[in-house]
Parts: sequence; C-alpha cells; structure tokens
Amino acid sequence: MIQERLQHDISSKVLTWFDKSGRKDLPWQQNINPYRVWVSEIMLQQTQVATVIPFFVRFMEQLPTVAALAQSHEDQVLHLWTGLGYYSRARNLHKTAKIVCADHGGKFPNTVDTLSELPGIGRSTAGAITSIAFKKPAAILDGNVKRVLARYHAIDGWPGQSAVSKSLWQFAEAHIPEKRVADYSQAMMDLGATLCTRSKPDCDHCPLQTDCLAHEQGQPQRYPGKKPKKALPIKTTQMLMIKNPRGEILLEKRPSSGIWGGLWVFPQQENGACPEHYLDKLAVKASTVNSWQSYRHTFSHYHLDITPIEITLSDSPKMLMENNQQLWYNIQQPAEVGLAAPIKKLLAKLSQAQ
Ligand code: SF4
Repeated sequence: MIQERLQHDISSKVLTWFDKSGRKDLPWQQNINPYRVWVSEIMLQQTQVATVIPFFVRFMEQLPTVAALAQSHEDQVLHLWTGLGYYSRARNLHKTAKIVCADHGGKFPNTVDTLSELPGIGRSTAGAITSIAFKKPAAILDGNVKRVLARYHAIDGWPGQSAVSKSLWQFAEAHIPEKRVADYSQAMMDLGATLCTRSKPDCDHCPLQTDCLAHEQGQPQRYPGKKPKKALPIKTTQMLMIKNPRGEILLEKRPSSGIWGGLWVFPQQENGACPEHYLDKLAVKASTVNSWQSYRHTFSHYHLDITPIEITLSDSPKMLMENNQQLWYNIQQPAEVGLAAPIKKLLAKLSQAQ
C-alpha cells in the first residue's frame, strides 16, 4: 500500500493548481535568491504569512544582503525581529550570515547536506533554499507540507515522533517532480497555507481531493496527530519598571543564550523580594512604588507569572552602564534594540500612563 502510494504523482495536479490559483506576489517570491529564501523560511517557521510580510519587507530594506546581515549588530537584528518571537531564530540567522561570509565567500552552499550544517537551518529549510533558490531537486517538509502529506496519505500520529516523521519525509522525497522543482516547493507550501488549512480544509477546491485518504475518510482535521499534552510548570518573577526623573526606563540586556537571549528586559527578581533591595545596588531611593496586577506569559515549555512593579526614582543613579549591559530607554525616542514581548507590552502601558 505504501509502495503504491509512494508512486502517486501529485506534483502535476499541484503545479496546475498553483499556475491557476497559487500566490505568486509574496515579497519573498520576488527577486528570488538564497538569502531572501532563507530569511523568509526562517521567519515563516511557526508564523503565518500575513504576520511575516511586514517583518520581511523591513528586514530586507535594512539588511538586503547576507554581507549586510553579517556586518550588522546583534541589537539591530533582534530589533527587526521584535514581535516575531522565538528569538533563537534571529540569533542563528546572524551567526549563519557570519559563517557564510567567513567560510563560504559570501555565497550560500547549494546542497541540503552543507546547508544543514549551518546554525538554525534544518532539513526542510535547506530543502527550500536548494529547490527554490538553486532549482535543484530537494524535499521540503514545513508545517504546511506536513499537514498536506499527513492528510493525503492518512498518516496517523504526531509528526514529532520519529516513525511519523520518517514516513512523511519518504513521501515528500517521492513526490518531487523532475521539472519545476522551485514552483513545486512553493505550490505545496501554498496549498497547505491556503486550502489544506489546520481547522477548515477547503477540500472542494483542492486538486488532490480525488485521491486524498483523509478526505475519503471524511475527517481531514484528524491529521496530523496532535502533540501529547504535558502540564507546564509555573515560574514566577517580579519585573521592576524603574523610571528615572526624566521618565526613562531602566533595561538590562540578557545573556546571549537562554530565554530571551540578547534581548533587553526590565531588571527581574524573585517574587516576594523587596524592590528596595535592587535599588540599593544602584544607590538610589524610590519616590513611589506601585505594584501592578500579575499576569501570565506562556512559553512553549513553562508558564511565567509576572508581577510588574512600577518604581519612580527620586534621583538618577550616579553610575549605571556596566559593560553596556544596561540602558535608560526613552519611550518617546526608542533605541533600536530587541525587546521581549512582555517587555514591549509593559512599555506600551507605561507610555499610555505617562
Ligand atoms: S483534499 Fe482536503 S484534506 Fe486532502 S489535501 Fe486537499 S484540502 Fe487537504
């Protein structure tokens, strides 16, 4: 049965559909080169097309080439990424640009194996760059393509399990056409994003309807299987929103690895600790201390219950900048630095209150 379905030619149907109805005006489908394909693929991981478009356009305006990205400051890259989340993607992008310039003469390697050795480039992203930018046969298996293939072949189980992933890759490889590999990769991603959507697949307009097993079973949403749920642990923290008499807010830079790596955040301390404790380090006193309502921010692997505390200082501290790891952030004229999502939200609230 698997052998029989491996030989199904879905590519001609998908390409015919793409020619007629697929999107061809997305920003990364213009002036195609490996750099643009790579940046778009990384941005599109776990993020929808409509969200990515303005981020991609702004990124390309400021950092139009791999050399420009390699020479940029990490703060600029994280600033351009602020709001997209999963910041390790941006840090890896920066690292990889430096490697491409230092070790590959500024040109992207053109094979899946060599591309996959670069930070943040997995097998599917390597396949997208190879097929779309270099027009060489290579399979892709991003979230959209996984969904289409899991449904078309009715593959049970969560794609994070190695047996399920193995079958999906087998099918992805088997369906690569001999010609038009770049269009085929784009067509499969587009079909998953626009027709074979997570909750409302539009099977009536799908070119694969006649042979799709999930459609035949009448339950396309059953595929792909969901990740088994685990209860997430809960952590707590105080975020100190310290304002100097000029209304600027104290931010600190996180270490480059770990959660919010390289981003700028409010000073944090354990819940329940006295805010004055932190101020002693700056040798300043507070004129007002105001605790805000706690709220929950959820990461993929834990919940963080945040208690924001607004502190207004009576004087500016004399000494601050330790190794450029702290800054006074002016909300009206913001510095170009990367901000973690909860920090950005709290700064917006502070700005409204000012
Ligand atoms: S027929 Fe329906 S479930 Fe099957 S691939 Fe098309 S949209 Fe998805």
